[in-house]
Amino acid sequence: MRVLRLLMTVSAVALLSVACAHAPRCDRLFVGGIVHTPGGAQRLEVAVEGGKIVALVPPGEAGAWRKAAKQVVDVSAAHVYPGFTESHGHLVGYGASLEQVDLRDAASFAEVVERVRKAAATVPPGAWVMGRGWDQNLWPGKAFPDDAALSAAVPDHPVLLRRVDGHAVITNARGLAAAGITSATPDPPGGRIIRDASGEPTGVLVDTAADLLAGLVPEPSAADIERRVLLAGRHLTAFGFTEFHDAGTTAPELAVLRRLEAEGRLPLRIYVMLLGSEDALLDAELPAGPRVSPDGMLTVRAVKLFADGALGSRGALLAQPYSDDPGNRGLEVTSESRLVEVIRRAASAGFQPCVHAIGDAAVTRVLDIYEREVGPGGRGLRPRIEHAQIVRPPDVPRFAALGVIASVQTSHCIADMPWAPARLGAERIAWAYRWRSLLAAGARLCLGSDVPVESPDPRLGVWAAVTRRTPEGTPPGGWNPAEALTPAEALAGYTSWAAYAGFEENRRGAIAVGYAADLTIFDRDLTSDDAAEILQAHVVRTVIAGRDVFAAGSGT
Ligand SMILES: [Zn+2]
Repeated sequence: MRVLRLLMTVSAVALLSVACAHAPRCDRLFVGGIVHTPGGAQRLEVAVEGGKIVALVPPGEAGAWRKAAKQVVDVSAAHVYPGFTESHGHLVGYGASLEQVDLRDAASFAEVVERVRKAAATVPPGAWVMGRGWDQNLWPGKAFPDDAALSAAVPDHPVLLRRVDGHAVITNARGLAAAGITSATPDPPGGRIIRDASGEPTGVLVDTAADLLAGLVPEPSAADIERRVLLAGRHLTAFGFTEFHDAGTTAPELAVLRRLEAEGRLPLRIYVMLLGSEDALLDAELPAGPRVSPDGMLTVRAVKLFADGALGSRGALLAQPYSDDPGNRGLEVTSESRLVEVIRRAASAGFQPCVHAIGDAAVTRVLDIYEREVGPGGRGLRPRIEHAQIVRPPDVPRFAALGVIASVQTSHCIADMPWAPARLGAERIAWAYRWRSLLAAGARLCLGSDVPVESPDPRLGVWAAVTRRTPEGTPPGGWNPAEALTPAEALAGYTSWAAYAGFEENRRGAIAVGYAADLTIFDRDLTSDDAAEILQAHVVRTVIAGRDVFAAGSGT
């Protein structure tokens, strides 16, 4: 026994001396975790120095590292994954949606007022407070309210609260004053200003009357953008994200992101896709070429375009008409000539083209343009098709042949299941959300949510990818389950595959020595055979460059 122990000690010392010729330097040592490395899940201690992973050491062999570590972090049997990336979302739009007060289940007008009062306390006086989802049919009496209670509770902010159907708004005295609506204001054509017995407006504006107010909501200021970036960042890091691919950054947004980066205040890594409809932005950014900030927090090297619209509103561009709308093939959101022009400009500047294409005709068109303008294999530009929702069989192998990445949102599949078959009909529905077909044909994928269209919660994304069922479990066998991903593939979609989509596979997306110390730590195994585990997992810690950006229960 003593000999054995002696041997083990000798081998540990040998290992350490191989790992590090000098005394190790270590800012933080993460101990006690099950670490998901490219070689599999194993108990390892993760040593971090200068924002990078400097050693992965089996427990019991980490004595020198424990001595050297400025801080030892015990993650107590949690599962340590490479830092997650949201591969497609809208950062400022997400922040704006979080600032809107959610009124969907408010059981009384008093509850509406209380929620709006709380929200108003978090934004500067004078700023608009937006909310949506109220329904007076859920309230005692089922009548429209008047603004008195709202105006008393929220005196300093104009308020705009949309009804659940979007066809009416409630505002307060500040909002009525801003719009100049008084007892003397006539009802506009197609709208109604609800009035009390004495003819005074009550704050409820129906249909076109609501436009009197909505037109006043100002374009976001730099301060609004900054606040929304930081708010979105707090939520995203709590969901476990360490990087966000922003699918259409505007010039004012980029200016704020650059300033936050320079001040060390970016809440997570941002991969910018410049909004390709803004010529001035392209003129300003493309000539300088792709850029990554020295700390790796802000990358500008992609351009976002829209080939078509969305399936739900029948805006996705289809080769044949909608099955439930025979005269309609959808919308060409950007002309083919404009797509060609911007893709050509982006490619010659070394920028990655990322084109939104949902309908099968839009996917074919974008693949055709990539083939002509970028060339086979993608010429190192890693062109992307965002969404790639409906892909005709002959187009499936073209993704791999052209080096095109399919940037997919797995939660769209389970959200769209109820109505997508009616839109597409029996044949084409088999071409929808076909992740397994694309992978089997050699395509690369990356996963995201299109937040705020869907929740960014990666547990939902992994669950949808693996089960193709709603969180409630329908349909029981999954919807077209042959197209599902394995848990390991879904995880890769949020980590190593996403890193490839952002040209970062040599420094992010894996837990390996020399890689950025970006970690997403869950309390259970997302790759368990029991899919129910996925939705029950909780993020315990999110780490960017070795620094905690979220720790459960700590308020960070
Ligand atoms: Zn999007």
